Amino acid sequence: MDYDIIIIGAGPAGLSFARSLADSQLKIALVERSSKKDLAEPAYDGREIALTHLSHRLMNDLGMWQTIDSEKIALIKNAKVSNGNSPYSLNFDHSETSKENLGFMLSNNVIRKAAYDSLDGFDNITLLTDKDVVNVGSNASCGWIELADKTKLKAPLVVAADSRFSTTRRKMGIATSMLDFGRTCIVCTMKAQEPHQYTAHECFHYDRTLAILPLNNNEISVVITLASEESDSVMAMHRDTFARDIEKRMNNKLGKLELSSELFAYPLVATFAHDFYTNRFAVIGDAAVGMHPVTAHGFNLGLQSAHILAKEIKQAIDKDVDFASTSVLARYSSQHKRIATPIYHGTNALVRLYTNTTRPAKLARSVLLHLGNIVKPAKAMIMDQLTEIRAEKSGRI
Ligand SMILES: Cc1cc2nc3c(=O)[nH]c(=O)nc-3n(C[C@H](O)[C@H](O)[C@H](O)COP(=O)(O)OP(=O)(O)OC[C@H]3O[C@@H](n4cnc5c(N)ncnc54)[C@H](O)[C@@H]3O)c2cc1C
Repeated sequence: MDYDIIIIGAGPAGLSFARSLADSQLKIALVERSSKKDLAEPAYDGREIALTHLSHRLMNDLGMWQTIDSEKIALIKNAKVSNGNSPYSLNFDHSETSKENLGFMLSNNVIRKAAYDSLDGFDNITLLTDKDVVNVGSNASCGWIELADKTKLKAPLVVAADSRFSTTRRKMGIATSMLDFGRTCIVCTMKAQEPHQYTAHECFHYDRTLAILPLNNNEISVVITLASEESDSVMAMHRDTFARDIEKRMNNKLGKLELSSELFAYPLVATFAHDFYTNRFAVIGDAAVGMHPVTAHGFNLGLQSAHILAKEIKQAIDKDVDFASTSVLARYSSQHKRIATPIYHGTNALVRLYTNTTRPAKLARSVLLHLGNIVKPAKAMIMDQLTEIRAEKSGRI
């Protein structure tokens, strides 16, 4: 065999998975179509990622967190969810938890760079860049990939981390549910005049949703989701017109706003692989579960998938059993599905409720927000889902 494990895709999930196994004896190839330079110095892509306490712990354990300049990490201390034009909000406050913050904000390119840097010095990991995987398959004893230059590589296990639109997942015959919301997410950063007090706002307006996430230096990450047919006109807006529009939609809560980045658009398609493995092949990260960003779970789940699969592989090696056997991959799949299924379906149900403009839906939203503030166990459950404080403490994964 050429390697023990071949990982397709050096995005944050593929890199984290490689790092999770870097201190084993396994010989690992990480195959990526982008250049080495793009991995070493990833460009800013507008995505400001909200991370939970569990992700903080996992990234710390992988030696990734420590490499990040603390000025690049912002804290979310409070969160407010509002409905339509109502000033009423469902409030989450870090003082209701044992932590000084509800979560962390990091740019996606900062996470990618930390994950890339964390592999430095591990000779058992070979990074093959500028390599497009065009075919994949497996037999009883091994998995294989074929590159665009016709090179074939073999390993007992192939792991795909090649995005929610994974072509290798399809080639391996893993069926996947895809939910195209017909909506687009536009993201950017802005400088605010008034202090944001490290508060995140999720405003479910009737025609679009607007999320405001706190960054350092009183900047904010602005996340707009809107019908895809409207996205071109928003992307083409003059910077000042755009800023005045967001100020108005925020009821001037943060005073004058000024764009500090360009705008980036992402079409919203959620995906869920029916199986997270097949013969000598597994999917992790977005290739397993591609989330709608509204509940900010995508990479948090991706990290967990990498962690769970790596843990199962290490346990199999300790017991001297085939780490790519069906039983090992099935255990990974069932654990990750147990965590991801309620989050995926819960998020999609929330999106449906908050994009439905009928009167009963508007009423249901308002009732839910009020109940959320009053019914303490429900609020604690939502808070726990958002922060993963309990999971971080319990050692669930
Ligand atoms: C607007 C937005 C906001 C978000 N906010 C949050 C948030 O707040 N919190 C959160 O946790 N998540 C968030 N996410 C989700 C998060 O960005 C993703 O979950 C994460 O980036 C997925 O990482 P990945 O490594 O699985 O896939 P990707 O980042 O898609 O990486 C896949 C890699 O595979 C490579 N590749 C693909 N095909 C091939 C091939 N055939 N051959 C070789 N290489 C290949 C690609 O080049 C790429 O490098 C957000 C997403 C968006 C769009």
